[in-house]
Amino acid sequence: MGWSIHQKLSKHDKLLRKFVTVKYAKLTFASVAVFIAVLLLLNILLPRVHRLRRGWPYYSSKEPSRAFVLPLRFIVVFWAVALPYFLFAETRQDYLALVKRLGSVSVSMLPIVHFLALRPSPLPRMFYLQLLPLHKWLSRIFILTVIAHAILYFAIYVHLGKVRKLLITSNLCGLIACTLFIAIILTSLKPIRRRFYNLFYSVHYFTAWVSLPLIYYHARITHVYVIIAACLLAAQACYRAFTSRHIKLPVQYISPSMFFISIPREQLPRTLQKYYSPGSHVRVSNPLYHFSTWLQSSHPYTIASLPQDPQLTLVIRKTTYPIKLRRFYALTGPYSSLPVPFFEDATRGLVKRVLFVAGGTGIAFVAPIMRHLRSLGVPVRLLWAIRDANDAKVLETLGLTDCALKEKQIEIYVTGDQTARPSAKWYMPSGAEGDESLNIDVDDDCCGGGEFKPLLSKYSYHKTYTDSPDFSTIMFNSRPVLNLRIKSWLHGVPIDTNTCCCLDQLMEMGTDLDPAGRWILASGAETLVGETEKWASSNKFSFYKDEFSM
Ligand SMILES: Cc1cc2nc3c(=O)[nH]c(=O)nc-3n(C[C@H](O)[C@H](O)[C@H](O)COP(=O)(O)OP(=O)(O)OC[C@H]3O[C@@H](n4cnc5c(N)ncnc54)[C@H](O)[C@@H]3O)c2cc1C
Repeated sequence: MGWSIHQKLSKHDKLLRKFVTVKYAKLTFASVAVFIAVLLLLNILLPRVHRLRRGWPYYSSKEPSRAFVLPLRFIVVFWAVALPYFLFAETRQDYLALVKRLGSVSVSMLPIVHFLALRPSPLPRMFYLQLLPLHKWLSRIFILTVIAHAILYFAIYVHLGKVRKLLITSNLCGLIACTLFIAIILTSLKPIRRRFYNLFYSVHYFTAWVSLPLIYYHARITHVYVIIAACLLAAQACYRAFTSRHIKLPVQYISPSMFFISIPREQLPRTLQKYYSPGSHVRVSNPLYHFSTWLQSSHPYTIASLPQDPQLTLVIRKTTYPIKLRRFYALTGPYSSLPVPFFEDATRGLVKRVLFVAGGTGIAFVAPIMRHLRSLGVPVRLLWAIRDANDAKVLETLGLTDCALKEKQIEIYVTGDQTARPSAKWYMPSGAEGDESLNIDVDDDCCGGGEFKPLLSKYSYHKTYTDSPDFSTIMFNSRPVLNLRIKSWLHGVPIDTNTCCCLDQLMEMGTDLDPAGRWILASGAETLVGETEKWASSNKFSFYKDEFSM
């Protein structure tokens, strides 16, 4: 017997079909919840599970941790196997059972989809940025299942000659919800999301709310999931309203395209007056009492100061989102960006060395962590790529002058055309002109770059006052390079310019150079961060990134 539409079922069989549909929706919901719990456990355990010793992995909190990377491949394989089971099991080759299952199973995923997008994440030792890829993948599976549900229903109605049934109010509600979900899929495609982030966000947020009453009215058996999802959305909105504070943001320009904002501690929301981990970010939006604000994305900015500082500092690249002096903005946060084990290790002396790679405003992420690690005696080094030499002045504001000039822990790479005059559109850099154009080179054979290149030649760096620090001595007119020089520094191997090019052989011959506890933290635009990530992984260094785009 093949697949068919079982129309004329007895009352008992109809009840059974409904029971089985509800059962598999519950099973899907429970499985996704268990799956998240397993990931949470992995996130806690895996950074401290070390290599096989006598055949067994072992857990130790006395050895340096490793960064936890979300096992996306495993997740995709798991769902490729699990989802067909939840959709097809006990359908008895009945198209009607399958189409109902597609609907109920998809809606049962909705609460977890919303849960994974909560800011901050309520899961212990996890932060929302870590969970966003999972939110994306689960949303894709959810929407594809919804679309399959709609197409199959349409086909069944056409086959049975009942297309008019689509015009019943409950079916129309389902159709509108499905159309909105398709709009989410389209606007979240990378080229559209990157170009029109606000459109992507508005469609996302509007659909998240509006789809709930539509689905509620569309199908009775999934009410419970819709109610949970609505509670999560409401809780998120209340959290944002209660933790935000409306303040003015005093803007001070460093260069035509970069400015900083310093907010006195007492003006901050209460949540930001307490301790938070260095490298966390805040979110800035228009005032929450304007309804339109809720349909627009808030703007994340990394806190460039430490929680104990009297001021909270933000370093911002001028974009299309204007920050005006006399206007009020809603400020909320903090939201962590770095895993807990990293800070635990740093306090216990398990972080051996840290290399920072930053592009432009990525310095906001680097500065507080660098200061924190220096206070703990961890050796640090920063390769910072900027377009305008004048951006370097922010190092003084961020408390990194000594670190840069006395201890020479910072190298500044000016990659923009310093002779070019600012264009008429300097006040609004486009993607290509902003931090996105900053990049890094990788050279595994040699150790050039940095101190082996001539200093910045035709720079247009102007000291603000005669007694202000002169950063031109640590500036280079090239791109930063990840090479043997950096690798040997991370391993704590002293570098000799004469033997430098033989260093790789030396390293291979030398007794094992253990990459444990040697970290690379990158922040800024996608390309720079991506290249650094590849280099870190090929050299087995622990890596963490703070990307400034979503
Ligand atoms: C965790 C994090 C920390 C950041 N820290 C800083 C910082 O310290 N200094 C700084 O200058 N910039 C920082 N950014 C980037 C900054 O948030 C965006 O540049 C800014 O929101 C762009 O606003 P826009 O309306 O001009 O963007 P658009 O011109 O509309 O978009 C430009 C790009 O910015 C990204 N973007 C825009 N809005 C958001 C948003 N709400 N959330 C995430 N990405 C967005 C998108 O990828 C988009 O493609 C950070 C971003 C993230 C994700």
